[in-house]
Amino acid sequence: MKHGTNPNWFANSPLSRVNIEKDQEAFFNARLADPKSLVIPLWRGDPLMTDGSPAFLSVGALSQFPKDAPVILLGMKDERAYFAVDVSAAESAETAPFADIGDYVQLRIAAGVLTRDDLAIIGQGRWYFEWRRKHRFCGNCGGETRLEAGGAKSRCTRCEEEHFPRINPVAIMLAIHDNACLLGRGHQFPPGFVSALAGFVEAGETPEECARRELFEEAGVVIDDVRYQFSQPWPFTCSLMMGFIAEAEGREINLDMEELAEARWCDKADVIAVLNNETRDFNVPPKFTIARQLLERWVKE
Ligand SMILES: [Zn+2]
Repeated sequence: MKHGTNPNWFANSPLSRVNIEKDQEAFFNARLADPKSLVIPLWRGDPLMTDGSPAFLSVGALSQFPKDAPVILLGMKDERAYFAVDVSAAESAETAPFADIGDYVQLRIAAGVLTRDDLAIIGQGRWYFEWRRKHRFCGNCGGETRLEAGGAKSRCTRCEEEHFPRINPVAIMLAIHDNACLLGRGHQFPPGFVSALAGFVEAGETPEECARRELFEEAGVVIDDVRYQFSQPWPFTCSLMMGFIAEAEGREINLDMEELAEARWCDKADVIAVLNNETRDFNVPPKFTIARQLLERWVKE
């Protein structure tokens, strides 16, 4: 499988997205009636899995789900349509439909075992349902919205305003200086777990400006040059993570203790040892994160 220059998990979906602006109802319904079509159930964003694989059910199984369970067309592959169905209305994963044939596995845990293709498909479904859950009403007039175009957008039933999925841009940046990189730990993480720093891009700001600002605000590190690397759709927060490697002017750290519990410069040799599981002096994020991929790219530079 080729991933071009983007090594990230949740990226490089094998599905081709379908533009069904015209005749959308007819297209959607024809795919729903096609016995080749498959559907993955998600309970609060977590996929149904059997024997370590996602449980893609025949689309006919939808008749056994609640009538009002949201269904989204994710895309096509080899003339087969892939849908996701949201069973979050069930009170628990154990009582959700088809829990008798498998388990709804937390996506962060499933991410460690799923193939990249499956993870891209499931991440897309989680993303749409998360957006849908938070945007059921129109921001323009407060009316109810309903999904259109297979779920790729919604429209207000009152004022007809169109609404598209809200994507939150985030800059994530590995600051480097000579043979060391800056890793920090947010208060929510256990001691020893460090990662690249990150922050949401603000209105009227470029991701590059955001990278400079966040490194200065959180760690007091001044950046000389910022180089874009690659991006990752991140379904846990409906974010688009944009990864940078940033050359720092020096190693002085002035920590914002409200934002970070710690930040430190780590030598490349030590980072390589951690990536290779040769030491546990500190821990870095798992392979399915863009932070890890930035580290992997930097150590190969
Ligand atoms: Zn409206």
